[in-house]
Amino acid sequence: MTVFKRLTESGHKELLFFQSTAGNLKAIIALHDTSLGITMGGTRLFPYPTEEEALRDVLRLSLGMTYKAACAQIPVGGAKAVIIADPRSKTGELFEEYGRFVEELNGRFVTGQDVNIQPEDVLSMQKQTRFVVGTVGLGGGPAPATAEGLVQAMSVAVTKGLGCPGLRGLKIAIQGCGSVAENLCRLLSLQGAELFVSDIDAAKVKRIVDLYGATPVATNEIHKLPVDVFAPCAMGGILNDDTIPDIKAKAVVGAANNQLGEEGHQRALCDRRILYIPDYVANAGGLINVYNEMIGRSEKEMWKHVFGIAATTSDILDLAMKNSITPFEASKTVATARLHEFRHMKRLSSTKKNLGIA
Ligand code: NAD
Repeated sequence: MTVFKRLTESGHKELLFFQSTAGNLKAIIALHDTSLGITMGGTRLFPYPTEEEALRDVLRLSLGMTYKAACAQIPVGGAKAVIIADPRSKTGELFEEYGRFVEELNGRFVTGQDVNIQPEDVLSMQKQTRFVVGTVGLGGGPAPATAEGLVQAMSVAVTKGLGCPGLRGLKIAIQGCGSVAENLCRLLSLQGAELFVSDIDAAKVKRIVDLYGATPVATNEIHKLPVDVFAPCAMGGILNDDTIPDIKAKAVVGAANNQLGEEGHQRALCDRRILYIPDYVANAGGLINVYNEMIGRSEKEMWKHVFGIAATTSDILDLAMKNSITPFEASKTVATARLHEFRHMKRLSSTKKNLGIA
């Protein structure tokens, strides 16, 4: 399929390829929806084996960002960037070069941290561009807000979807013991949930076991546990033909972006009566965090916005039940409606501006 045909199919507006003169920086930025004048999305650094895989990832992730922003009531379009590189070879110069490229876009694309990008890398980008957010901003960076948003979505999923009184006493399996998962374990242990964790990094597992009394589980077993909720908090693509038949959890609510191998896998989960809350609904706390930082809101306002993930999840489940559709389908309907509303508001405010009405 040609690149333009792919862009048409996914509704993408712009795709930017960038490489430095020395050729050590190769980046792709996908701006999915530019209708609101500004787009947001993290930058991921990954050793993609092929350019095709990098392109596929950036297109899927940026599309998801448009849905994420709209569901979270954030008036920006979705975007994402990928840098094709081995994380072991990253340097401050590489991120400064990338920062110069982001600056050239003059605020049409605002970015932040994603996989394999650390706060010090963001600081290097910030030497060259104003359009990077989310180092240690509001609430200590995006991970605590992402975890809080997950707890909000999970609480609604288990009460409304599974008919449980709350998270207390529920068994929750968490894949990945990184920044989001650690914050999630802290919040869930406060709520009295029983935790099971896995990571390819044994030291990270030990830390969470020691801190929160979680039970360690082998990486290839975590999704098979007979638990109430499975929370994928590592990499995407975990919900696929191989894993879905083995999932015994009653609900899946996690942080990882693009958890579904293919979109059709949401139907496979539904057929197995597993409630799936789309990743872009449940993990929007990080975007909410950086957006509030960008527009200068207070920490209190930011947390209020994060707590709103509960109401959005509830609206989605209500719509799904009312129309006999899956929560995934209901989420798209909610996202599309909110996006139309934002576009309408933008048109209205530019008309007012043109007419000189305040
Ligand atoms: P992180 O890099 O801190 O943690 C990811 C963890 O997953 C690492 O500890 C890694 O060792 C582990 N891992 C990788 N492959 C694994 C496997 N096969 N099995 C078990 N563990 C594995 O990342 P994070 O910031 O905690 O984010 C987790 C996920 O959530 C990522 O997919 C990220 O894109 C997504 N996300 C993060 C945020 C945020 O605020 N940080 C926001 C939205 C979405």
